[in-house]
Amino acid sequence: MSNPTKKILHIDMDAFYASVEQRDNPELVGKPLAVGGSKERGVVAAASYEARKYGVKSAMPSSIAYRKCPQLIFIKPRFEAYKEASQQIREVFEEYTDLVEPLALDEAYLDVTDNKFDMEFAMDIATEIKQKIKDKTGLTASAGISYNKFLAKIASDYNKPDGFYVITPSMAEKFIEKLPIEKFFGVGKVTAKKMHLKGIFTGANLKRKSEQQLTQWFGKAGGYYYNISRGIDNRKVNPNRIRKSLGAERTYENDITTKEEMAENIIRIAEILIKRIENAGGAGKSLTLKVKYGDFKQITRSKTISETLTNEQIKVIGILLLDSIPDIEKGIRLIGLQTANFDQENKDVFLEQLEFEF
Ligand SMILES: [Mg+2]
Repeated sequence: MSNPTKKILHIDMDAFYASVEQRDNPELVGKPLAVGGSKERGVVAAASYEARKYGVKSAMPSSIAYRKCPQLIFIKPRFEAYKEASQQIREVFEEYTDLVEPLALDEAYLDVTDNKFDMEFAMDIATEIKQKIKDKTGLTASAGISYNKFLAKIASDYNKPDGFYVITPSMAEKFIEKLPIEKFFGVGKVTAKKMHLKGIFTGANLKRKSEQQLTQWFGKAGGYYYNISRGIDNRKVNPNRIRKSLGAERTYENDITTKEEMAENIIRIAEILIKRIENAGGAGKSLTLKVKYGDFKQITRSKTISETLTNEQIKVIGILLLDSIPDIEKGIRLIGLQTANFDQENKDVFLEQLEFEF
């Protein structure tokens, strides 16, 4: 067991963007709602729980979402409002510990082993944090509590929304064995498919493979999979992670000419990028989409958020950036995604460097 005495929380807001919209517009409460895109074009960035019941998911083309749920309401994202709520939850976290590692606007790891109130039980801290978030923002969060980041993150996802779940050291092994590998943090769709082909469907299947075998199949990530299948994750909650830029790109034999195909391929490239990020130990705050046309003309579009990007956001923002790519019908020969850590003040430097680094 890795540090079974550590107390780690993962706090994750429920359907964050959609919930902020419902909070700010009571007419939207209880209704199926998609943030991002429009009925005709674009892609869903986030869906309310009411929309999810119809099978509407983030990163789904809006036209498909509309077909699944004709009464779906499309809302433009308001990142300023999300940032404000994010700042409020951050203040709540910092009442308890300075060891806060945000993964996105709406989720963070907290190491509360030594906390500012000398509280003994992480469960009590999680309960208070959930209540304070509700009081301050009017929004619900789910809390996962365990002794490392991997398990805390799985726990927060376990009974969403408004969830609360603890994975103790004695529960961990059984819990992981039963877990479908798609639920493992760091296992994306592509990796999951690869694992299925190797007969790995659950944590128990994964645990039966040797480290050598996993490394042979999955490279450096193999060691990570070997450890997490045993509940071992020694990554520290790090409030000041320094991240370098990371990218992934693909050149296509036949030019891509439709937005749907673009979206599909952006998701695929995002999966590769996410795997690289997992190996490198963290994403940045910005995402850049690079597109090269059939005539080799190249354009880039970037978005920066105030916290580090989550796996889901890499996909969602990648898809959102697609909306600003013109003339897809002329043919696209290359798509690339890059994440980097850049703040407003050194944005220009980054964009200059991009020409060489990407
Ligand atoms: Mg969330």
